[in-house]
Order: sequence, then C-alpha cells, then structure tokens
Amino acid sequence: MKSFDETLAMLLAAARERARRPTIELNLADALGRIAAQSVASGIDVPAYDNSQMDGYAGRVAEMNLSSEPLPVSQRIPAGHPGVPLAPGTVARIFTGAPIPEGANAVIMQEQAVVSDDGRIRFTAPVEPGQNIRPRAGDIKKGQVVVQAGRRLSAADLGLCASIGVGRLKVVEPLTVGVFSSGDEIRQPGETLAPGQIYDSNRPMVLGLAKGLGCRVIDLGCLPDRADVTREKLSQAAVSCDLIITCGGVSVGEEDHIKAAVAELGSLELWKIAIKPGKPFAFGRINQAVFMGLPGNPVAAWVTFVMLVRPYILSACGVTHTDPQSVHLPADFDWPKPDVRQEYLRGWINARGCLEIHPRQNSGVLSSVTECEGLIEIPAGVPQKKGALLRFIPYRALT
Ligand code: AMP
Ligand code: MG
Repeated sequence: MKSFDETLAMLLAAARERARRPTIELNLADALGRIAAQSVASGIDVPAYDNSQMDGYAGRVAEMNLSSEPLPVSQRIPAGHPGVPLAPGTVARIFTGAPIPEGANAVIMQEQAVVSDDGRIRFTAPVEPGQNIRPRAGDIKKGQVVVQAGRRLSAADLGLCASIGVGRLKVVEPLTVGVFSSGDEIRQPGETLAPGQIYDSNRPMVLGLAKGLGCRVIDLGCLPDRADVTREKLSQAAVSCDLIITCGGVSVGEEDHIKAAVAELGSLELWKIAIKPGKPFAFGRINQAVFMGLPGNPVAAWVTFVMLVRPYILSACGVTHTDPQSVHLPADFDWPKPDVRQEYLRGWINARGCLEIHPRQNSGVLSSVTECEGLIEIPAGVPQKKGALLRFIPYRALT
C-alpha cells in the first residue's frame, strides 16, 4: 500500500503532465476564483501622486506650527482636481484623496483647525512633515508584480488589478470534471426508498467540491453494479472529461466493477492507499482522461477528495502551492490505538485552544464532517496522548 505522501506525490506528478492548460482572457468581473495564467506587473505607481489622507488643510510644517500666526487659505483642492503650487504663508483647503499641492509637506485634519471670522486658520495641534500624506507609490511601485501566475484570484486580487488599470486577466481554462456515483442501493432525493436503499449523498457533495475549485462539472449520474454498463459509461465519459471521478464500487466486493472497467479501458495505476478513512482510493487513466475512484463511504469520499483530488486539480491548473494551510495544536484527547494508516479525524479547536474530536469517527457518518471545523492528522502507527502537538487543517484551507 502506498503511503499518503507517496500517493500525493504521484498525483502531483500526473498533474504536472497537464500543467500546460489552455488559457482565456476574462473581464475582472468573471475572474473570481480562477487561476492566473500569467503574472501581472503594474504599469503605474499607486497612488500615482502624493495625496491627502484627511479632510483638512495642506501647508508647510514650519508655517503651520502652533506658535505661528493664523494662515489664510489660498486655494481649495477637492479630490480629482489638482491644485496649483502653494503660495508662501498660506494653506490649501484639501479633501481626502486630493493631490498635495507643490510646496506643501503636511496635512492637518480639519478637527484640529479653527477658522476665524476673517477666514484665517489656526491649528490646535502640532504638525510633522509627511503627516496625513499618502505618498506616491506607497501601495504599488511601477513594475511591481501584483499577481503571480498560478494564484487563485480573490476579490481583493481583482480590486488590486483594477487599481493598476488592468481590466482583463489571462486565466487557466478549468478542468472538466465528470462525477459518477455507483451502487444498486443508491436512490436520488425525491425518490422513495425501498428497504435496503439509501440516498445518494456523494454525487452532489463531490460535484460541489469540484465546482468550489472552479472546475467545469458534469453530473454523470449513478452507475449500476454491472460490469458492462460501468465499462460503457466510463468509456463515454472519457471523451468529454479531463478527470472522471467515481464514488463507491472500488472495494473488494464482487459488486465492485469500477477498477476492472478502468483496467480494461485504460490503466489502473493505483489502488488502496494507507489513509483512514479512504483506503480503497483508486487512480488510473482512460485515454486522455484521468480517473480517480473515491470510496463509497461519504466521509471517505470527502476526505480523499480534499486531501488528494483537490491538490491534483489545483496543480493541473498551474497552482504552485497546493499544500493546505494548517496549524499544530495540542490534542485534548488520547489516541492510544492508532491505525497503520495515516488518519484524518474530524474535529475542532475548543475554548482552551486545543484539538477536540467528534465522538463518531466512522467513515459512514457524514454529519461528523458538517459538525466539525477541520481535519486532525494522526501519523500512521503513532499513539497520541493528550497534549501531543497535532496538525489541524481547517476546512476553509481545503475547499
Ligand atoms: P462501496 O464501496 O460501493 O461498497 O460503498 C461503500 C459504502 O458506501 C456502502 O455502504 C455504500 O452504500 C455507501 N455508498 C456508496 N455510494 C454512496 C453514495 N453515493 N451516497 C451515500 N452512500 C454511498
Ligand atoms: Mg457499491
């Protein structure tokens, strides 16, 4: 059995074979969550000019100091309207975002200014050079890279691109991911359950996970436990999908036909890995499509998706850092009988800042996913005592 790390390395190597994906150019409004295909460098300084951080008065520090005489106002500079060089012995009325006039070296806020009857201004607080001035290039310097190729674009990235005048971005075309569930016992919400049947929780979940990563998703339905139909459907899916994901049907049972079908149609390169839950994970290829078989138990499907399929998808789209951000925190539980496989427990950070686990860790208990906040990694074969530092991966780093 391959370890988790070996499996991940294998998937990432497979992803790199595909890393040259087609790109398209999109308007900023359509680029949220997409992956930048090229780095974006700024053609301008931001801000492009020294400007005021306050509504107030711009002037020369030496002339504005407390001890000085009240000063007359020689000009008014609203945002968007550059003023003229500041006449000696005067101040400029200025507003937030307005350009600092030549000659001024500080802005004093209007709350620290008193306007006398003759319109002259007296200041009630001392001023320092540069006070309340946002300097040119204080945010971004011309030539600076603001978005690196391979970055998943956040809303703030879009704002930053707009701030340098870039309105369109080259992004990577998403993967087309087809998702099958499988099993004769599986019914869809809305249908009536006969004895022995259950609802299909994996397909909407896995489709949602893939969609959340920006993939184009295709709902491929549910495979019956029949070798011929499984073969035919997988073969069809390989025509239109970059990645085919199945759920269930990859265990050791006689009704598990998916591995055999993949092996017949293409190649089955991996089956069974040292991770709990998730042991029956399978990986292979059918023509140009990559195949990943997730276990049928919903928690195992969820864990293998977020820990293995997610980094594959991101890496295939050119994302350079696919390791989820995690923290190490002390366990508030004992784990005296570790599995020989690396385990992923569902848990949360409690009020003491320690890791606590959900009481039901069975791989069939999907509510243990929604009732928790992250995964706690237990290294294979190492018993853990209260207080041991364990890796905690919050869900938000995984989706
Ligand atoms: P299998 O690997 O096909 O034997 O499935 C393992 C377990 O997961 C069985 O108890 C299945 O009923 C269950 N299972 C498989 N697919 C799904 C699904 N789509 N939704 C919920 N449970 C499933
Ligand atoms: Mg099954």
